[in-house]
Amino acid sequence: MTSTQQTLYFIFSDNRWVVPQSANLGEGLAAVKDLALDAFAQYRQEAVKIAQYDAQSHVLIDMQRDTIDDDNYRSLSMREALGTLNEHEFSMLAKAWQYALFLRHHKYCGRCGSAMLQVQWEMAMHCHSCQHRVYPRVSPCIIVAVRKGDKILLAQGVRHQSTGFFSTLAGFVESAESLEHAVHREVKEEVGIEIKNLEYFGSQPWPFPHSIMVGYLAEYASGDLVLEEKEILSADWFDVDKLPLTPPTLSIAGRLIEETVKRIKQGS
Ligand SMILES: [Zn+2]
Repeated sequence: MTSTQQTLYFIFSDNRWVVPQSANLGEGLAAVKDLALDAFAQYRQEAVKIAQYDAQSHVLIDMQRDTIDDDNYRSLSMREALGTLNEHEFSMLAKAWQYALFLRHHKYCGRCGSAMLQVQWEMAMHCHSCQHRVYPRVSPCIIVAVRKGDKILLAQGVRHQSTGFFSTLAGFVESAESLEHAVHREVKEEVGIEIKNLEYFGSQPWPFPHSIMVGYLAEYASGDLVLEEKEILSADWFDVDKLPLTPPTLSIAGRLIEETVKRIKQGS
C-alpha cells in the first residue's frame, strides 16, 4: 500500500486566516491544500500538529501579530470564513483557530508564572514546576427566540449595532448557573419579561473568540418590555410577515428565528 499522507496547513496572522490569493474557497479547504510554504519558512519551527484524520494531518502555523507581505496571499476574518466554508470544514478551521488562541494565551502558568509546555497527546498546556494543566477555554452562551402568540421578540443589541440586525437575545452563562437559569435570567435582565415552555433547539460552536451558542425556543409568560439600555438599543414583538433585517441562517440566531416563524405560520 502506498502512503498518500497529506498535510493541511492552517495559517493565522493576528486574528485572520491566511489563504493563497488564488484559492477558490467555494471548493472548501481543498482550495488551501497546495500552500507554497516557503513564504512561511520562518514560522515552521513553531508549527503544531493539531489533528489527524485518516490520511490527513492538520498543522497550525501561527504568525502571531506578523502580517504577510506577499501578493500571493490574502487573509479572511473568521466571520468571513463562516460565510464561505461548510459547517464541517468551518469547524476544522475553528478548532485550529481556538488552538492558536490557546497557545498564545497560555505561554506562562497562571498559578506560578513558569513557562508552560504543550502536552503532546491532548490539547493542553502543562506547567512542569507546579503541575498545573490548562485546556482551551469554551465559554457557553445561551441564545433564545421568544414568541408571544403569532409575534416574535427581536432586539437590536448595542454590540451588534453595526450589522443593523434585529436578533434573538443572547448572553453568557455565569459560574454555577444552569443553562435554563441563564436563559430566564438573560431575558429578564435584557427586556424585563418572564418566559415559559423552554425547549432546547440545538447548539453551534462560535469561535468569536471561544463560545458555544446553546439555542432555545421559548414563549412569553408575563411582564412588559423594559430594556436594559446598556445592552439593548431597541426590542419589540414583530409580525412574522413584517420582520426587520435578521441574521442569516448560517448562525443559530438565524435558524432560531426561521424555526419560530415556521411554527407561527403553521399555527403550531
Ligand atoms: Zn505552574
